[in-house]
Amino acid sequence: MGSNMLIPKYDVRGFKIFGFRDRDQTINYLFDNNQVKTGTLVAMNAEKLLTAEQDTELRTLLDNADYLYADGISMVNAIGRKYPQAEVSRVAGADLWPALMQRAGQQNTPVFLVGGKPEVLTQTEEKLRMQWNVNIVGSQDGYFTAEQRETLLTRIAASGAVIVTVALGSPKQEIFIRDCYQLYPNALYMGVGGTYDVFTGRAKRAPKRWQDLGLEWLYRLLSQPSRIGRQLKLLRFAYYYYRGHL
Ligand code: UDP
Repeated sequence: MGSNMLIPKYDVRGFKIFGFRDRDQTINYLFDNNQVKTGTLVAMNAEKLLTAEQDTELRTLLDNADYLYADGISMVNAIGRKYPQAEVSRVAGADLWPALMQRAGQQNTPVFLVGGKPEVLTQTEEKLRMQWNVNIVGSQDGYFTAEQRETLLTRIAASGAVIVTVALGSPKQEIFIRDCYQLYPNALYMGVGGTYDVFTGRAKRAPKRWQDLGLEWLYRLLSQPSRIGRQLKLLRFAYYYYRGHL
């Protein structure tokens, strides 16, 4: 678990994915000897990969991310198919983030929270303080103007935050993280999508059993059929998978 903890990286269509064994290993890697790693932590899934193949800005963002992790079962399966010896599990961002916050609370690591609706953010902060005694050094809800954005970047840089988590949806959050990291490279940045909504009980995840079967995507589709357009795109990934074009 020392500073030289090595995590194998796997190539999926040119993306370098960190092959974490499980969530605990991911957390131990990031809290390296109690010295939190700096850089950008980005969830990788098939949808993002496919979007990036057509969107050069997203492609560049992902290529420049420091830690891409397999947030979707499709990534885990792709790695397994290409590298049969790999021992990689899905690490869902929605699980990783609370684990990160809990550890931050234990170690009094300064945290800055960005994104979400104002009331969701307030409730998230309260819960983090109550539950894990998290040291929150600043926050900003996710509905801000271009001028406020500039101020926010300066505020984060001045806050002394060691972890910055950003919930603006994709690719907004990745773009924000890129800009903030440029100004203030001394923190670990994580894009967290709708995680604050899940944390405060506003959004539901698939039941544990569905998650364990690798069917969280199907659960989402059934509970939100409008996602079908997004999911149909994934047929291309299935094609890559079956043709061995990974
Ligand atoms: N969000 C935000 N500002 C925005 C757009 C979205 O703070 O301008 C927040 C929204 O409140 C939600 C989160 O971003 O909590 C994730 O949004 P969504 O589920 O649409 O993104 P996804 O995770 O599916 O990419």
